[in-house]
Amino acid sequence: MEQTVYLNGQYLPLSEAKVSVLDRGFLFGDGVYEVIPAYKGELFRMVEHIQRLNSSLGNIRLALDYSLEDWRTILQPLLDSNKDQYIYLQVTRGVAPKRDHAFPRDAVPTVFAMCSDLQHFAAKDSGVKALTMDDSRWEMCHVKATTLLANILLRQHAVEQGCAEAILVKNGKVTEGAASNLFAVIDGVLTTPLKNEEILPGITRDVIIELARNNDIAYAEKTISLEELQAASEIWVTSSTREIVPVVILDDAPVGEGKPGKLWTQMDGLFQQCKRGMNE
Ligand code: PMP
Repeated sequence: MEQTVYLNGQYLPLSEAKVSVLDRGFLFGDGVYEVIPAYKGELFRMVEHIQRLNSSLGNIRLALDYSLEDWRTILQPLLDSNKDQYIYLQVTRGVAPKRDHAFPRDAVPTVFAMCSDLQHFAAKDSGVKALTMDDSRWEMCHVKATTLLANILLRQHAVEQGCAEAILVKNGKVTEGAASNLFAVIDGVLTTPLKNEEILPGITRDVIIELARNNDIAYAEKTISLEELQAASEIWVTSSTREIVPVVILDDAPVGEGKPGKLWTQMDGLFQQCKRGMNE
């Protein structure tokens, strides 16, 4: 049976969901998005994801007056209570009669959502390779913008080098992955870069910090230099769809003992409990 998606107030078979070529999402990448995991039909950290969406919308000055309950009503019918899935949702500035960079006056935002099965990221259990690259992105990385060309080129280069992720470095300091946040164990302390406009405020990042705090794991939110990263005993990249992925080889050199570390094993266990806890 064909997948059902949501588009502008309607639920449609995927093949019938169509957007105009004049949509600013298509012409300019003028839109923002969210990816929300749903475990057995329950949206995980829904409030935080919608808060981040609202913050992205505010940052690009796109007015959309949907409450949390409006979103719940839209998304719930797409979910299957027997599966682990994720929602992809996107809001663009809508269709404008003419291609002009400046905002159209009366455009109605395009709102799209679909649900896909969450695949276990198999490489996670043995750890992955990553490489460091110059952070070539723009200066509003805290906005979850659909305009992802730099991220795409960075991730593609990493994949072509046999790596799962590109870890981005700006002026000698580590920011995040091309599609993930970054944690490193430095002198025994679980460390992650501070939230600012250079990184996406990851929801998985927040969950990990919360779990560290509640389980007496020493952690710090602070600047990480490339040298500190290279000397770290563990490195993880984190995201909603892949969860917590240990990096075991960085730029061809082993990280720590070259296998997933002890703290990763502990945190992954805590994370699995946390995500299942909501269904118990
Ligand atoms: N940073 C970037 C650039 C991302 O694209 C993502 C999500 N794929 C993340 C961080 C992680 O965010 P979250 O944990 O909310 O999925």
